[in-house]
Amino acid sequence: MNKIALDVVTPDGSVYFQENCEIIILQTKQGELGVMAGHVPTVAALKIGGLRAKIDGRFEYFAVTDGFVEIRPEKVTVLVQAGESAGEIDTERAAAAKERAEALLQQERDEKIDRFRAELALQRAINRIDVAKHSS
Ligand code: ATP
Repeated sequence: MNKIALDVVTPDGSVYFQENCEIIILQTKQGELGVMAGHVPTVAALKIGGLRAKIDGRFEYFAVTDGFVEIRPEKVTVLVQAGESAGEIDTERAAAAKERAEALLQQERDEKIDRFRAELALQRAINRIDVAKHSS
């Protein structure tokens, strides 16, 4: 089976690179997308969510923020503000971020921008907590 490469790129540079993925499953704004070698070239927006890549028959799991993906037949480049593998996630930090965001959302003051930011922070924290469950 032909393999496809995965590169996860953040403002800090590439945080993960793997040449030999059998399939890469992404959460795009249009829904879940599975990508194998030979995929038609595509660009899509990603939502905050999990990303998984099958390597040597086993899935590796990542938490990513929203961003973009560029798909080429031999390589998937994920461009996001932040991405962590399941094992890198600090669950206490994510739980604290979740509590902070929930507290902000419970406040009566209805500053739209602040609420929007808090909702995104909450989604990032919940995503990290979910993905960390796949840490081996
Ligand atoms: P926090 O409030 O805890 O900083 P955040 O959602 O605001 O969370 P981001 O802005 O998404 O954090 O990420 C900032 C940097 O911190 C990135 O490099 C990201 O990979 C890292 N990071 C954030 N949360 C965690 C976590 N729970 N475990 C490991 N790394 C994290």
